[in-house]
Amino acid sequence: MERSTKQRRAIREAFLEAGRPLSPQEVLSLARRKVPSLGLATVYRTLKGLVEEGFLTAVALPGEPPRYEPAGQGHHHHFLCRRCGRVYELSGCGLKADLPPGFQAEGHEVTVYGRCPECA
Ligand SMILES: [Zn+2]
Ligand SMILES: [Zn+2]
Repeated sequence: MERSTKQRRAIREAFLEAGRPLSPQEVLSLARRKVPSLGLATVYRTLKGLVEEGFLTAVALPGEPPRYEPAGQGHHHHFLCRRCGRVYELSGCGLKADLPPGFQAEGHEVTVYGRCPECA
């Protein structure tokens, strides 16, 4: 119990410190700084629990393993660095689709690809 609380806290803190969506592997390496014995299976299990509790939400990117980010942030998009694989949140949305007459949009998915400042 003590142990699992510590692991959970380390995983939550990884997201707050990173400030961007994280893959399970990234969560593992960040949280291991605080809980060196942490394993990937525990990370997966904890992520699932945090999604069910509404603390995290899964970020689906085409052709990519899911990332996770804090839930409840409203509509926004993501940037994927093609070199290092890090995902960043983009604030707001400037997308305006020109729809033909008679069409009604209900949503959209946009992922911007490129290089992050570290890789540019
Ligand atoms: Zn990069
Ligand atoms: Zn949008």
